[in-house]
Amino acid sequence: MRAKQRNLTLFDSLSREQKEVCLQPGAEKFSFYCCGPTVYGPAHIGNFRTFVAQDIFRRVVELSGVPTFHVRNITDVDDKTIRDSQKQGASLVDFTTHWNSIFQADSEALSCLTPHSQPSAIEHIPQQIELIETLISKGFAYPSEDGSVYFKVEAFEDYGALSRLKDRELEVGKTANARSNADEYEKEGATDFVLWKARKPEDGENFWTSPWGEGRPGWHLECSAMIREVIGETVDLHGGGVDLMFPHHENEMAQSECACGQPLARHWFHVTHLLVDGGKMSKSLGNFYTLSDLEKLGHEAKEVRYVLASGHYRKPLNFLLSSLGDAKIALEKLRVFGEELAEKANAPLLSYEECLAQTEADLGLFQPAWNSLLNDLNVPEALGKVFTGIKEFRSTECDPEAAKMALIGFSYVAQALGLDLTPVKVEVPKEVEDLAAQRWEAKMNKDWAACDAFRDQIQALGFTVKDEKGAYTLIKN
Ligand code: AMP
Ligand code: ZN
Repeated sequence: MRAKQRNLTLFDSLSREQKEVCLQPGAEKFSFYCCGPTVYGPAHIGNFRTFVAQDIFRRVVELSGVPTFHVRNITDVDDKTIRDSQKQGASLVDFTTHWNSIFQADSEALSCLTPHSQPSAIEHIPQQIELIETLISKGFAYPSEDGSVYFKVEAFEDYGALSRLKDRELEVGKTANARSNADEYEKEGATDFVLWKARKPEDGENFWTSPWGEGRPGWHLECSAMIREVIGETVDLHGGGVDLMFPHHENEMAQSECACGQPLARHWFHVTHLLVDGGKMSKSLGNFYTLSDLEKLGHEAKEVRYVLASGHYRKPLNFLLSSLGDAKIALEKLRVFGEELAEKANAPLLSYEECLAQTEADLGLFQPAWNSLLNDLNVPEALGKVFTGIKEFRSTECDPEAAKMALIGFSYVAQALGLDLTPVKVEVPKEVEDLAAQRWEAKMNKDWAACDAFRDQIQALGFTVKDEKGAYTLIKN
């Protein structure tokens, strides 16, 4: 079985079925849009659970041989970014640029591949105004007395299909003349929601001119306009955390489908929350950790990545600090195995690009782990199968050919999960380096007694000397 000849199947939140992820006939790339961070503070690791799951999704699709076009927006115009930039007396652009750069650095540290496009709302105001004009002209939106514009929920028959509002016995249109002006609302009813917000004194200088007067776009509208601009009327897949299903994605769907007459997304991918003590990790509850909080406690980004990756994306994952210690141990086992494999196969582990370039992708002992990923991104099962593969490898006498295949398979799965298996860089104290040099000189002079004595001293300082191919290396015990 060749890994690249199989496609990923993934649960679709709209149809509630597991569906194949594949290229449309004639398309060159699989397009997917992820609602990105609201840049008014540091992203927490709950946010990164969603971004890591999306990154694994991208890697598995690409490693299956399907090129992607990955778009993740930056939410820089909303109630919170405006409120907090005003509080700081900073311009909205300066304020959001600052938090965006911290987000990008964290995202990279957590081994998330950089999206191919990262549009922001501030850069797409004309497109948002144009979308509202289309919606008004088609009868799906109306201006209100104060110069705001609302979407008329009762005009869109499918409203509530994604979040199953009807199943929750909340009739669409029942509350039709009720309006919601906030970017985020918890109400499980279908209220007319805001597309354009008339300028208010508390917005400060953050307003733009429009046919309805000065104001700013509503949050839900921003994604619809950016998708249309950067990808087109329909994206292959649209995703975010499960909290975005209602009202954000429901509203995006209503706006885009009413304006364009096409489905907004062929597939909906929602990631379940990262929890703390059984509750959602969130900024408003103040129960969150950022990557930098965890680094200050002595943990590494790759351990955080492992923990975030290790749960099934459709199941809640309860975050414990102790799981970072478990991640460290697991990563070390995988790293040691990678070295062992590289030695047996006489070749290094493959990089992500090398895996993408592989055509002979028989994954040998690691095919089962790869198959688990292809089956609704079942990461916990895949990790279990990786460790089974390692056991099997060690229990059988392996020829270089089989070792090579295992090397490809192991690299594939490690790269799909974005695991960093590079050796930990160890600072060797000068004292140890000097002793090692003296020992080498003694060895060259065949002074075996001195040689052993130096070795013991090095050992007592926590290092082991290994001689190989006419040179020595120092290994931390
Ligand atoms: P925000 O910055 O609040 O717009 O959120 C960015 C992304 O993080 C969205 O896709 C959210 O759904 C997601 N998110 C927020 N909190 C969590 C959490 N505790 N676990 C998983 N994803 C989350
Ligand atoms: Zn969005």
